[in-house]
Amino acid sequence: MAGNLGRADAGQIQAWLEAINEFNSTPEFGTTRVLFTEPEVKAREYVKGEMRKLGLKIQEDAIGNIFGLYEGTEPNLAPVWTGSHIDTVLNAGMFDGMSGVVAGLEAVRLIKEAGLRPRRSLAVVVYTSEEPTRFRLGCLGSRALAGKLDAAAAYALHDAEGKSLYEVLADLGFPVGDFAQVAKKKDEVFAAVELHIDQTGVLEKAGQTVGIVKTICAPSVLEVTVEGRQSHAGGTSMSERRDAYMAACEMALAAEKLGRESTSEYTTVTVGKVQVIPNAVNVIPGKVLFSLDIRDADFAYKNKLAADFRQQAEAIATCRGVNVTIREVNNDHPMPCDAHIRQLIEENCRKLQVPYMQTISGAFHDSMLVGEFAPVAMIFVPSHGGISHSPQEWTDFAEIAAGTDVLTETLLALASA
Ligand SMILES: [Zn+2]
Repeated sequence: MAGNLGRADAGQIQAWLEAINEFNSTPEFGTTRVLFTEPEVKAREYVKGEMRKLGLKIQEDAIGNIFGLYEGTEPNLAPVWTGSHIDTVLNAGMFDGMSGVVAGLEAVRLIKEAGLRPRRSLAVVVYTSEEPTRFRLGCLGSRALAGKLDAAAAYALHDAEGKSLYEVLADLGFPVGDFAQVAKKKDEVFAAVELHIDQTGVLEKAGQTVGIVKTICAPSVLEVTVEGRQSHAGGTSMSERRDAYMAACEMALAAEKLGRESTSEYTTVTVGKVQVIPNAVNVIPGKVLFSLDIRDADFAYKNKLAADFRQQAEAIATCRGVNVTIREVNNDHPMPCDAHIRQLIEENCRKLQVPYMQTISGAFHDSMLVGEFAPVAMIFVPSHGGISHSPQEWTDFAEIAAGTDVLTETLLALASA
């Protein structure tokens, strides 16, 4: 192997990001690119075209994950992956997901340009639908790769128009008959590193360019149903009422307190969805449903917090003469990033003199699922003002370039191992 790695070109990164951003169904207000709508399909074609220009071999699986392969000198060895997603939420920005795909393209471009060809193949991956926008379930592509979404489950997912994911894939000509072959076994992938915007203000506030992610937090979602007695707002005295809404409020505040007083490294507690029945001005609510989203870097702590919440909610219900039932919708495992890859990233930050810090990912990413079958790590780059999932989302191209330099060195070291 010969040649030295060049530095990532911020202009090239900008050009790719802006080109992808042209595929957008709401250019008047941010970026909207929902899975398998026309702009998303066109963005896929564009990215594949750029992969071809770089000489990458393209593979697509039954759920539409795209792999742009730069073959190593020993192509039978387990490859090293990098990449992210190109779908967005409604009225989003141009960085969330796309930065990781573009950084992967740039990394491979630099490695090729230096005339380097490591032992292991490198793959730039575009994971299908990280955002839950269309099928109300996120990480579809990486979930299938992790063996947690099979053909039957893809049949069961329907969009707002009643079309199943399976039908959509079949209509677009994806080889749905091969669905069983999407899932990866352990050891099939040597390592996977994803660059992503940090989506919080943490890096910016600390004045650091790169965040080395220690753990990707995972959510537990609880559906809480409170049943009281529906009655007349004027006709029922304060002492007689069994108000489902007021009980739900007290439970929500108890959950918030548990989150605020957490001794875990990172905890969030959110009540994001509330349904009041019957939802009328002059009626005491008889029933309230609310969601409780608990995220934590520590699985045991998350479960303890959920158990504490359950106990307190039951005590509040008893006190207020209402019933409470709590259903667990999901309880995902936080994903610790691989210690060896984190170490490599840290060494490369020092070598390249890129200011860095250790951080936690409060949001989940495809890496959370890829980590089920391969060692994973994430490189975060700063989000201005911590704003994401918004037209105001912004990361400087120079900062993505600096993160890409760290990524490139890390991929090269892993692929040479
Ligand atoms: Zn993302």
